[in-house]
Amino acid sequence: MEYTRRSPLRTDAYPLWAMIHTFVRMIRECYPGVVFGGYLLAFFVAFAMVFMLPIGALGLVFLALMALIPVVLILGIVRAIERPLALEKLRAGRCPACGAKSIQPPSTASENCYECAACHERFSARGEDVAAPEPIEVDSVNLSESESV
Ligand SMILES: [Zn+2]
Repeated sequence: MEYTRRSPLRTDAYPLWAMIHTFVRMIRECYPGVVFGGYLLAFFVAFAMVFMLPIGALGLVFLALMALIPVVLILGIVRAIERPLALEKLRAGRCPACGAKSIQPPSTASENCYECAACHERFSARGEDVAAPEPIEVDSVNLSESESV
């Protein structure tokens, strides 16, 4: 069989933007941990400085406070890059989280978000992750208490 660009293998290839999205999403997910690690490291440096160079510890506190501005800005930029790429995946019916072609459109008007049948991750129409709703637990103890009152 002659290999051509129009062979089924080529048409179903994983697009480049989908790979970029997976990479950007990975960055966004490990970002809070990296920032926390950085601040934890700064804490230990500041703790050691208290005994050796107290003014250095004070300077580090102000530096850490000022660093919050770029930290928040970078998160905003990463999210702004991720959102349109996630929307492209949703339009292709592919889950932005696990990559499976199992995206279900919003079932009821009140929910208004897309859900992946494979990993049950939920996404808003803007392409952002939506936290799963808390499961409603029937508390038998509370029920019996409220009945007696
Ligand atoms: Zn999924």
